[in-house]
Amino acid sequence: MAASAMDGVAAAALRSVLQRVQLAAERCGRRSDRVRIVAVSKTKPVPIIRQVYDAGHRCFGENYVQELVEKAPQLPDDIEWHFIGNLQRNKVKPLLTAVPNLSMVESVDDEKIANQLDRVVGNVGRKPLKVLVQVNTSGEETKSGVEPDGCVRLVKHVTSSCPNLEFHGLMTIGMPDYTSTPENFKTLAKCRSEVCKALGISEEQCELSMGMSGDFELAIEMGSTNVRIGSTIFGPREYHKKQSN
Ligand SMILES: *Cc1c(COP(=O)(O)O)cnc(C)c1O
Repeated sequence: MAASAMDGVAAAALRSVLQRVQLAAERCGRRSDRVRIVAVSKTKPVPIIRQVYDAGHRCFGENYVQELVEKAPQLPDDIEWHFIGNLQRNKVKPLLTAVPNLSMVESVDDEKIANQLDRVVGNVGRKPLKVLVQVNTSGEETKSGVEPDGCVRLVKHVTSSCPNLEFHGLMTIGMPDYTSTPENFKTLAKCRSEVCKALGISEEQCELSMGMSGDFELAIEMGSTNVRIGSTIFGPREYHKKQSN
């Protein structure tokens, strides 16, 4: 399919997602402007991201440092980039240097990565970086994230020892088959209660990033403030580009 036709598809898919988010929020009496949509553009080429941008969207998410570092400079600098993947300490400096408009890192899962982010944000002299603490709510060993019972401790570390980071809330990834995601989302909400109690803050001050293409409406009904939607907007991911395309 020609690039322009694909692009139109992505913009239309964005509009459909916006509508579904609004309906899901209305169903549970929430305001849809309290639910941020992160358009997850990993593996997708710049022109298609640009079309979603031109349709009015400003918040995009990427998983891989190398990919974000290559794409961000080719796109407008009023994009709010969210980094949502596993982050290695030696990639923090290249990431923050190449992407001054990095808005949030959703995947802080231990003290060492928090410390490194804090240090590099201080060194490059940018505004404080928003962070979420990623929680492994499914117990799968392959998943990143702090264990639920280690969540308060890590959040306290961020808020007390990382002055260049702004703690904004918690993030989780549900089970791939969706059958257990309600449990995963419940666990994240429970972590939020514990964090808010420990920090003496209200629940509005602690975001929940949960919900992807297959479960974002459920996530919104369960209190998500940040849904990360990739394939429903951009189509299936292209890990292996076919020559014929
Ligand atoms: C890829 C990815 C998404 C988007 O997944 P879809 O199912 O395509 O919407 C969301 N969150 C994270 C952490 C991801 O890696």
